[in-house]
Amino acid sequence: MTPFPRPDYAPLEPYAPDRRPIAVDLSDNTNRWGVHPGALAAVAGASAEDFLRYPPVYADHLRAAVAERFGVPMEAVSTGCGSDDLLDSLFRATGVMGEGVRFIPPTFSMIEIFARMNGLEAMPLEREAGAGPESPFGPLPDPARLLEGGPAMVYLCRPNNPTGEVQPRRWVDAVIEAAEGAGTVVAVDEAYADFLDPRVEDPDDLLRAAAGSRRLVVLRTLSKVYGLAGLRVGYAVGSPEVIRELEKSRGPYKVNRMAEAAGVAALRDEAGWIPGILDEVRVERTRLAQELSDRGLAALPSGANFLCVPLAGAELSVDPTAAAVTAAFREREVAIRPFPALPGIGEAVRVSIGPRAEMDAFLQALDEIRG
Ligand SMILES: *Cc1c(COP(=O)(O)O)cnc(C)c1O
Repeated sequence: MTPFPRPDYAPLEPYAPDRRPIAVDLSDNTNRWGVHPGALAAVAGASAEDFLRYPPVYADHLRAAVAERFGVPMEAVSTGCGSDDLLDSLFRATGVMGEGVRFIPPTFSMIEIFARMNGLEAMPLEREAGAGPESPFGPLPDPARLLEGGPAMVYLCRPNNPTGEVQPRRWVDAVIEAAEGAGTVVAVDEAYADFLDPRVEDPDDLLRAAAGSRRLVVLRTLSKVYGLAGLRVGYAVGSPEVIRELEKSRGPYKVNRMAEAAGVAALRDEAGWIPGILDEVRVERTRLAQELSDRGLAALPSGANFLCVPLAGAELSVDPTAAAVTAAFREREVAIRPFPALPGIGEAVRVSIGPRAEMDAFLQALDEIRG
């Protein structure tokens, strides 16, 4: 018998982001403009039945809304209590104890945690050095290298959290092709795909491709631009074969009735609320990058609703470490997310994009910290 507590859980700690109340919270990339109004109305219309009765077992109303929105079959869609839930389920569906999950650091911090939670091994593949003005993130690995050692799953995040990097689509396609050749599932976490520039690429193209693929799963969340982080709604698209396995490991009743109704209304976006928010995010992101650059801070190019700001060489009145800078902002009622010693980047902070007044509050705090 395995002793309790199980030894492989020893390095795990309960997730503990700094959640103390603050005036301007730019720490978690949620929608600083507010909640999707259609979702709010759907929850306001909840009845006693919605509390009393179990929801649809596999959230079929939400699956249908996703299917309709993207023109994919309902059997190609799964849903979950946030996309974290789907990621967690996908780890269980793809790997058995002791197998590995491949990813390229720095990326979503929950990946290593979900791997360990499910008895899987983290298989980070460090990028080669060589970052420069042409390629601030450094070269991406050859797709074949991601499959070395036979991982049970390859995880990519595009745009990547916490860097904002939008990996070239042809590289992503090459990774998918290599993985499918090896029979390995590839999860592309598109938590921030809503923010991709539609003039550059169709943000939904990979998601649609997933429905007809063999081993690709695309994951999305309603926690970011839709403003529903508190309700916990996510969805995934893949081939019906892969989605069926995902649903098995996910289990029933993961999306509650209010969350499902809100998610359906938000995805339909009948009043066209989302495009206006996306425009403002892009405008404020460009402006903030410029304001930072005017102050000698070069944010990394970002395709998401945040900027990753390396601190090396920053001239500040505090140490240019992630911890000291985050604390200095907190003293000025602005929360940002510290990223100490990011591989290939060093000390950095991540700042969510919000309405102009919040960006100005951030810049004012920054000017005070610069002294
Ligand atoms: C926010 C985020 C998620 C998950 O969000 P949920 O709230 O669980 O839906 C997943 N992946 C990345 C990269 C994120 O930043």
